[in-house]
Amino acid sequence: MTPTTQRDYYEILGVDRGASVDDIKKAYRILAVRYHPDKNPGDSESEERFKEASEAYAVLSDSKKRDRYDRFGHQGIGGQDFSGFDPSSFGDFSDILGDLFGFGFGDIFGGRRQARSGPRRGRDLQYTLRLSLEEAATGTEKSIRIPRAEDCETCGGGGSEPGTSPETCTSCGGSGQVMFRRGFLSVAQTCPSCGGAGRVNRTPCSACRGNGQVENEANLQVKVPAGIDNGMRLRLAGEGERGRGGGPAGDLYVVMAVKVHDLFEREGSSLHFELPISAFQAMLGATVPITTILGEDQDVVVGAGAQPGEVIRLRSAGMPDVNSQRRGDLFVHLKVVVPQRLSTEEKKLVEVAANAVGEVVDPAGHEGLFEKLKRALGSE
Ligand SMILES: [Zn+2]
Ligand SMILES: [Zn+2]
Repeated sequence: MTPTTQRDYYEILGVDRGASVDDIKKAYRILAVRYHPDKNPGDSESEERFKEASEAYAVLSDSKKRDRYDRFGHQGIGGQDFSGFDPSSFGDFSDILGDLFGFGFGDIFGGRRQARSGPRRGRDLQYTLRLSLEEAATGTEKSIRIPRAEDCETCGGGGSEPGTSPETCTSCGGSGQVMFRRGFLSVAQTCPSCGGAGRVNRTPCSACRGNGQVENEANLQVKVPAGIDNGMRLRLAGEGERGRGGGPAGDLYVVMAVKVHDLFEREGSSLHFELPISAFQAMLGATVPITTILGEDQDVVVGAGAQPGEVIRLRSAGMPDVNSQRRGDLFVHLKVVVPQRLSTEEKKLVEVAANAVGEVVDPAGHEGLFEKLKRALGSE
């Protein structure tokens, strides 16, 4: 190596000896952007600067190496120069350059990336399934249609006309990558002839235009267990997008969207239900028949003297739990309804009852508080 590698590392990066790792990183980043060989093709001075900065960064960003360098100078790190230095041992080193230039640090130093032609797993798909609360309570089986890419039947997914197959790319010899030399750097790039696949399809299948897959609609049966709740997902393994090149298929996630019910409000495996009862039923007590979410007939026994908002709990009349299948409870909230109109006879009877308990009532019953106020204020 030339003596330029023996320049002081701190001086190369333009930081002082007490600089933090962050400062060192920042300084290196700036230099790396300025002197990167991709930005300065054929400029050996830039290349030298880049190499120098990289070496300085490699040492100063490593606390052990930095410590040895601080104490013993270049001798302390074994006179290590760029040619002997392994970039793959510096994790965040490749991060820094990777996100700057879109490729890993190993690429610059001749490291080879894997060709992109290997088996690829299909993408996961998602489907929203709308259910009524009744369906969620009983469990159900639904047939759904999923648009997804399927293997082409004509070519069996290979993408070539039947009887033919893709040939190995002559430009890259099948590796999917070609190497460029730039001075001391060897840069790997995706092969432009085959796009990285390593193989060239000279007789593309006419049914799928060489794609190997066609858009299709898959018909699937989804078994929904009783007690499923809004937002829960069912995973149908292998029912997502088909894999490529022999890769596994992705999964299908069916997301539950349970519609809001007119009568029942759900809270986990509990259900809430508002039961209107008349003032008479509240006073005297009553047995009111209702139908549960599972369609069972059940009696709600309202005790005499029930109050508005009182809650009656019916055990095991709610939703089943999706895991244990144990039923939750049904909470019946009483809503006491006062009759808006009474017949003359009813009115008399109620007045008798009111008088019996010594209540002060207005037998005329036609003047509301507002009218009374208006009269009292003399506005009429
Ligand atoms: Zn095809
Ligand atoms: Zn190629």
